Amino acid sequence: MAQLSLQKIEKTYPNGFKAVHGVDLDIRDGEFMVFVGPSGCAKSTLLRMIAGLESITGGELRIGERLVNGLAPKERGIAMVFQNYALYPHMKVYENLAFGLRLAGTPKAEVDQRVRHAARLLEMEHLLDRYPKQLSGGQAQRVAVGRAIVKKPEVFLFDEPLSNLDAKLRASMRVRLTDLHRTLRESGQPATVVYVTHDQVEAMTMGERICVLKDGVIQQVDTPTALYDRPANAFVASFIGSPEMNIHPAQLHPQADGLAVQLGDVVLRLPDAVAAGLPAGSMPVQFGLRPEHISAHPRPEGDSMAVPAQLRSLEHMGNEVFVHFSIGSVPMTARVPADQLHGLDQLQRGAAHVFHLQMGRSHWFDAATGARL
Ligand code: ADP
Ligand code: MG
Repeated sequence: MAQLSLQKIEKTYPNGFKAVHGVDLDIRDGEFMVFVGPSGCAKSTLLRMIAGLESITGGELRIGERLVNGLAPKERGIAMVFQNYALYPHMKVYENLAFGLRLAGTPKAEVDQRVRHAARLLEMEHLLDRYPKQLSGGQAQRVAVGRAIVKKPEVFLFDEPLSNLDAKLRASMRVRLTDLHRTLRESGQPATVVYVTHDQVEAMTMGERICVLKDGVIQQVDTPTALYDRPANAFVASFIGSPEMNIHPAQLHPQADGLAVQLGDVVLRLPDAVAAGLPAGSMPVQFGLRPEHISAHPRPEGDSMAVPAQLRSLEHMGNEVFVHFSIGSVPMTARVPADQLHGLDQLQRGAAHVFHLQMGRSHWFDAATGARL
């Protein structure tokens, strides 16, 4: 069993900089967990503390039942894959895979069996005879993953393993790695994975659960769907999703006939179903709405709210169009299927158009703290 338990984990670097502030997290046995957040949020620091490459200055780290704070990397049952694959250039792929096992005194027959098993899992049996310089970036990355697999670790740690690959290869490696995780689970050797990335698409497509970090503090730990549908705060809301969620300061105004929201200079009466979930008083808030919850359709649908706006520009993506417009002085982006533009592509910049905001999908955050209301 290789569940990970992080309790009040802290990291203060020797120069006094505190990079990790009391992280509490349980990672389940066999789970694919992604750490995501902007550069500098301490993803690598946390991963390196799990690996034993960086000392833990506060809190307790358990792998399985064992407290591992004081254990060396090789005593922890982990294998780590880095962004720069760190292959030995003068060794063929086979030797790159076998080297660590040989060093550990593994019998020759078992080394061969493990190397071939890993090569089969990663569909790279035909590469065993090549030198690293004869490999493409994607192939080299597979060898780096293979080198982790032959160790039969209970926990795999990945630090941005795909960021040196081009976009197309990244997409196929995402699928390959999640397939591999599933294959290991189905073959009765489940592997716990902690995967670090700054790329929210990677996080959303690969993680069974995602831990969103900012400045060494956990913002939310949840499934991809839950993060997307119910972000815990404005930071998570804007970090997850592309194009970004529209988030703007707004003011709630109770009125005789219900609740209104003021966005810039524009005051909009909220549908009662939406108002029911909000504080009744007059107060500043942050209003959020994902671009796909804004329609260019001329007639209202369901609980959508008609809003007069001015067109700014269109970005054609092929199947869909990102429509930039403004409500008064407030800039907004809508994500509209290319066949549902309703004449928007015929309009001049600055032209008036009524958009429909699906207010049932709106998000509301505390004006000061950003916490979800
Ligand atoms: P990420 O992987 O999320 O980009 P890191 O874990 O590399 O972030 O870094 C987290 C923070 O810790 C950053 O502010 C970084 O500058 C700082 N940091 C990293 N390594 C050291 C170090 N050896 N000494 C001092 N500060 C460091
Ligand atoms: Mg990093």
